[in-house]
Amino acid sequence: MSIAENVARIRAEIQQAALACGRDPKSIQLCAATKMNDADAVRQAIAAGVDCCGENRVQELTAKLAENAYEGAPVHFIGHLQTNKVKFVVGKVDLIQSVDSERLLKAIDKEASKQGIVQNILLEVNIGEEASKSGFGADDILPLVDRLAEFPNVCLKGLMAIPPISHNSGENLKFFQKMFQLSVDIRNKIDDNVMVDCLSMGMSGDFVDAISSGSTMIRVGTAIFGARDYAKLSSN
Ligand SMILES: *Cc1c(COP(=O)(O)O)cnc(C)c1O
Repeated sequence: MSIAENVARIRAEIQQAALACGRDPKSIQLCAATKMNDADAVRQAIAAGVDCCGENRVQELTAKLAENAYEGAPVHFIGHLQTNKVKFVVGKVDLIQSVDSERLLKAIDKEASKQGIVQNILLEVNIGEEASKSGFGADDILPLVDRLAEFPNVCLKGLMAIPPISHNSGENLKFFQKMFQLSVDIRNKIDDNVMVDCLSMGMSGDFVDAISSGSTMIRVGTAIFGARDYAKLSSN
């Protein structure tokens, strides 16, 4: 199947999942997770109407930006970002979804200040409390939101989560529901909260459950582009 056919099928699945739980399908954005796919594939996904692209690695982001691969769609950063690389990402992307530590938050704020901009961000929550994953603990989020004024050059747009890899539908529902509750708690806390409405969760294998739990942005790679060829990466 072509990228365009895959995007059309996923849109239909989003619509079905949204309507099944009484949500407006337009309230769910489709972010193409473009890692390991080249500029041509990215352009096909944008032409097929994805809402935005999410890149994982700084080097790939920089290379594809140089090729104008993302023209016509916002680009997000969704991978783990090292503090020494923030200057390659801040001001280059519309949203950094994967702010996973206070140290990184500080570095982004500092770089944005240097550039004279405000960087849109999401806070990444390690909702499955996995040792192998970075991200804030769910309990760290509300106290941090209280102190956001310390970081005047970032604008919080919401939360992001990557729950444990699941092979059976329903397995991650409890994590998605916890994330939704946390996003409601944040909106109740912030006076000017209308823009803190992004809840980025759900991937190829579990986006239907994410949508039924209140996700407003799903990040889909494999279902759009096919399986990633990791062999290709190591031989380069
Ligand atoms: C790769 C990736 C995705 C997409 O995963 P698929 O299972 O291929 O849909 C989503 N989010 C992040 C952060 C990723 O790195």
